[in-house]
Amino acid sequence: MNERAYFDILVVGGGMVGSALALGLSQQGWHVGLVEGSDRKALLQAPGEVSGVDDFDPRVSAISVASQRLLEELGVWPDIAAGRHCPYQTMTVWDGDGTGRIQFEAAELRAPALGTIIENRRTVQALFAALAQSSVDLVDGVKVTGWWQDGSQRGIRLEDGRTLAAKLVVAADGAHSRLRQWVGLPTREWDYDQQAIVCTVRTTQSHRFTAWQRFSPAGPLAFLPLLTEAGNEHYCSIVWSQDTEEARRLMALNDDAFRAELESAIERELGAVKVVSRRYAFPLRQRHAKDYIAGGFALVGDAAHTIHPLAGQGANLGYGDVRALLDELSRARKSGTDPDNELVLARYQRRRKGENLAMMAAMEGFKQLFARDELTVRWLRNTGMRWLNQLGPVKNRIAAEAMGLD
Ligand SMILES: Cc1cc2nc3c(=O)[nH]c(=O)nc-3n(C[C@H](O)[C@H](O)[C@H](O)COP(=O)(O)OP(=O)(O)OC[C@H]3O[C@@H](n4cnc5c(N)ncnc54)[C@H](O)[C@@H]3O)c2cc1C
Repeated sequence: MNERAYFDILVVGGGMVGSALALGLSQQGWHVGLVEGSDRKALLQAPGEVSGVDDFDPRVSAISVASQRLLEELGVWPDIAAGRHCPYQTMTVWDGDGTGRIQFEAAELRAPALGTIIENRRTVQALFAALAQSSVDLVDGVKVTGWWQDGSQRGIRLEDGRTLAAKLVVAADGAHSRLRQWVGLPTREWDYDQQAIVCTVRTTQSHRFTAWQRFSPAGPLAFLPLLTEAGNEHYCSIVWSQDTEEARRLMALNDDAFRAELESAIERELGAVKVVSRRYAFPLRQRHAKDYIAGGFALVGDAAHTIHPLAGQGANLGYGDVRALLDELSRARKSGTDPDNELVLARYQRRRKGENLAMMAAMEGFKQLFARDELTVRWLRNTGMRWLNQLGPVKNRIAAEAMGLD
């Protein structure tokens, strides 16, 4: 890349969301630059398939059918599907404090799967393999350290001293987006005072291609099914959300004590559990930018919104942003409109803000409902779950929403 390069569109942040956006924009014919702070070449050179079963990426995502369609259209799905991934046909949700239980079935929706569990690393690897073959100018291993605007000109500064210019700059630099802060887009946010503990476990019983989720007042525990290259169905990635103090206590336990608590928290639904990876704890915070756009600037993915992982929707919302921005910029390109056109960006914001807010509100409602342990609320919750479980059409409508189907 030149000393001062000019682009139609610059994407900052090559996570799952930014790299998908950059790839899609280059396929539309825009001149695109992508800047990623970490070294992606190393990731590409790493064996695509990690060999050991104890080497699953601790960060996995339940990718919805709608997100899968986007990855198919970008041409990266065959690469992802050629590696380790686990489609799940059932989702079982139950109340640890009662008898309420709901089971969602792909067959009832006439779908092959409700979603697919994929290691985040695999998705990013597939996207970067495709980016390497694309026209995108890739700058990795270099952080963005500043932003500038001069009349109708704008761009970013890199830590190695380079300055890049573009008509449109898109921030996909994650939850703590520096670009969002530099540009001055405020957020509404609150701390859940919770942490999500994440690790990989081996279970004596097969996961039966089911995503398991048990709710308790302190937070949900999810067992997400993984599949090894050899087709072994006994591995799961767990996401255990707990109040911060309790999460710290759990993190401090030795492996055996942690395993015992985990096994009892999932009610031995999958038999005995063995922890086969390190444990990681992620602090949980809800965050939503009041505006996703400012002159020649747009937010996507976690830079625009972060959400409690209880329904595994964060990356899916990010892919929804990518889909909407790709649609609007494709129309702009066909009509010869600049990518920083105000109306184009306003349409993107209008399409995404309502949908993201609705999902965030639903997750918050869910979390509050399960946090209450008064007898009447518990009774209503459990009766409601049993009742909903028998109401096929309503239940299937909820599942279709979560899958991102119209
Ligand atoms: C415990 C947990 C479980 C989750 N489970 C699910 C799930 O099942 N399904 C789901 O859909 N979502 C899930 N999520 C949410 C999902 O992981 C995120 O929504 C998603 O990773 C966001 O992707 P992103 O590309 O927007 O941001 P990120 O993944 O944070 O990527 C941002 C990128 O920007 C780069 N960057 C940052 N600053 C700079 C800079 N200054 N210069 C250059 N580069 C920079 C970073 O290196 C990074 O690569 C989960 C989240 C958590 C915490």
